[in-house]
Amino acid sequence: MLSTPATGAAIDVAPTDLLGLEPGDLRAWLAARGEQPFRARQILDGIYRQLAADFEAMTNLPRPLRARLAADATIAGPTLRRELAARDGRTRKVLLALADGRLIEAVLMLYPAGPDGRARASVCISTQAGCAYGCTFCATGQMGFDRHLTAGEIVAQVLYFARELRAQPWTAPDGQALDHVTNVVLMGMGEPLHNYDNVLRAVRILNAPEGLGLGARHITLSTVGLVPGILRLAGEPLQINLAISLHAPTDAMRLRTMPVTRKYPIAAVLEACQTYVARTNRQVTFEYVLLAGENDAPEHARALAALLAPLRQLGHVNLIPVNATAAGYRPPSGEAIRRFRDELRRGGIGNSVRAERGDDIAAACGQLHTREGRTVPLPDSPRRIADASGAALDLVVPMVDPE
Ligand code: SAH
Ligand code: SF4
Repeated sequence: MLSTPATGAAIDVAPTDLLGLEPGDLRAWLAARGEQPFRARQILDGIYRQLAADFEAMTNLPRPLRARLAADATIAGPTLRRELAARDGRTRKVLLALADGRLIEAVLMLYPAGPDGRARASVCISTQAGCAYGCTFCATGQMGFDRHLTAGEIVAQVLYFARELRAQPWTAPDGQALDHVTNVVLMGMGEPLHNYDNVLRAVRILNAPEGLGLGARHITLSTVGLVPGILRLAGEPLQINLAISLHAPTDAMRLRTMPVTRKYPIAAVLEACQTYVARTNRQVTFEYVLLAGENDAPEHARALAALLAPLRQLGHVNLIPVNATAAGYRPPSGEAIRRFRDELRRGGIGNSVRAERGDDIAAACGQLHTREGRTVPLPDSPRRIADASGAALDLVVPMVDPE
């Protein structure tokens, strides 16, 4: 609550979401309220180191300031509606309600130690409610566009899992305890480059040493291929990983599943990628969703290898067997995937196959959507579905497709 200088009368102002403020913005926000600059450091410490869920928990702040912050600001973020855990215990999806009631999803994926000996906790976050780009295989795309998320709503998804891991660290198979988020992928609902300013602000907050302190190389942004956005990103002083959703070797084929191709043909996207690599020194990943009978034949792999040959040194292909959505696409057989990979390898294109996670809770890429929230009454309180409870699938059915 603020008061007008002239009359002293109380006026209602929406509380400021501090999760959407970069450290410098927070300092300015506090200065405008007559607070000392060092308070910003204390508040940031409370949010991102202590992982406090409210101002009351920030006991390093004087009580009157805590009360003032509680009146003028918030760090609450979206509220949990439902949490689903996959049977393997390594994938958790949350359905979060934004302040206006819209629903989004975020996913935590836990990985045992790789060759570097470190276990990983990767959070896949949404950048929009819905998506405007309408890719035919994507559940979010089939919802249509609802609205952009604010920077605070994007940051809050990572904080949600950061708090969870802090409260209950994951014990990896080799015994190491993981109590923090190590990676963030912007691959949830929405097209990040369509919501450029909010997304970049969120990335800067996640990356800032006074924020979550997550290295830029541990942050990956996936885009449908918005050329102006890629070029703008190339000029940012941030070296985040870029992933391009390619999914077809020719414009004609790509148009069948990705309407955005009409506006940004493949050649323009690849040219923008070359600029990105030249300016940032980062490699690019080309994502290729394998759709049985559509884009998974050996000749498609040969065409893809020829297309990417000039960019061979710049990136590699990540093959993603399509996850089931309402659209009726099927993933190829293991044999078809092997043949596809062989052709790419023969063409000199490095590639990998994404091991999908959380398919049993519809938490995998392209499966995130919130139709359930519109058609099925939600429980009053959040429910956690335990591993191996056998109940996971029952609850998931309406999440996959209620119709
Ligand atoms: N809008 C961005 C990021 C969100 S989608 C983009 O399109 O890149 C994240 C990834 O999931 C993209 O590569 C997208 O093509 C892929 N995807 C969408 N639907 C999928 C599905 N049903 N199965 C597997 N991957 C899917
Ligand atoms: Fe949007 Fe990405 Fe889904 Fe396409 S794949 S509809 S761009 S979220």
